[in-house]
Amino acid sequence: MVSETGPRLRAQLDGIPTYKPGRPAPTGATAYKLSSNENPYPPLPGVMEQVAASAERLHRYPDLACTELTAELAGRLGVPAAHVATGTGSVGVAQQLVQATSGPGDEVLYAWRSFEAYPIVVQIPGAASVQVPLTPGEGHDLDAMAAAITDRTRLIFVCNPNNPTGTVVRRAELERFLDKVPSDVLVVLDEAYREFNRDAEVPDGVEIYRDRPNVAVLRTFSKAYGLAGLRVGFAIAHEPVADALRKTAVPFGVSQIAQDAAVASLRSEEQLLLRVDALVKERDRVVGGLRGQGWTVPETHANFVWLRLGERTLDFAARCERAGVVVRPFAGEGVRVTVGESEANDLFLRAAEEFRTVL
Ligand code: PMP
Repeated sequence: MVSETGPRLRAQLDGIPTYKPGRPAPTGATAYKLSSNENPYPPLPGVMEQVAASAERLHRYPDLACTELTAELAGRLGVPAAHVATGTGSVGVAQQLVQATSGPGDEVLYAWRSFEAYPIVVQIPGAASVQVPLTPGEGHDLDAMAAAITDRTRLIFVCNPNNPTGTVVRRAELERFLDKVPSDVLVVLDEAYREFNRDAEVPDGVEIYRDRPNVAVLRTFSKAYGLAGLRVGFAIAHEPVADALRKTAVPFGVSQIAQDAAVASLRSEEQLLLRVDALVKERDRVVGGLRGQGWTVPETHANFVWLRLGERTLDFAARCERAGVVVRPFAGEGVRVTVGESEANDLFLRAAEEFRTVL
């Protein structure tokens, strides 16, 4: 008999929002997209040459184990290759980390507001999100997070620097927090934006994970390395966790083009990090400009700035769009603006100034 209702889907999905990317810049218009924390620079010519060469083998499956990329990362970071697990963007690896640790009845803890994919990847396997509000300074409230740990907590995300506020957790407070976390709870240090940080007190997660089997470090080629379109991220974790990530990975989830472009980018790291330096200078110029206009801007250590606008959020985003820049509004809360090309940053600063003068 043909069912009238169609396949039965898990009721759980009803409560889960579909991930929404930042709106693309309207086609044909001269709008700049400052809504997804992308790198405004295109791939280096050498990386594009590698992409073209790798494309000649598109009729073949990629290297399942990402052997060359894994070896390159392990060598650079000084970790065993068995501790490196690659995936389809770091959001893919975040999803695998949840799948590997948490299911119905389990809790995953994180600060809020933070990366908007966390609630989605937590709820899909049936785990519950426990969101701990940020401090008034827009940073992680690690004491409150430690107090929120229960017998059901299986995983904790610490986004450092935090998306969308740009705030950081420093070494001493992180170590103090980790000392309070039970050893059977996995702590994921999401360091998607670490290359933009210039504060020496912010720890390198790889140093933290070495002595802590319950810590995993999450990184990506999408931001500083400018390969958002190729979807490649990775985790550094001790073997039981890294092995679980290999089990939960979508087979062949990192294309050969992505693997080869990531290796080529690592080998051109110096040039890419010069671009990061230029973006950090631009960021500091944007923050200085906003503060000069009278805005309160939390100190950002990433490639974006956060303006808490409350009820005026959507008006502000609309004004930016009219000025030619697409930003990321979080309705009722605030706006996150990626640092982009200097012309784009100028347009944004002008829109911000105009908005203040009409307040
Ligand atoms: N973590 C954080 C904190 C992010 O902001 C993002 C992207 N917005 C990601 C992970 C995922 O990036 P990707 O999947 O492109 O590696």
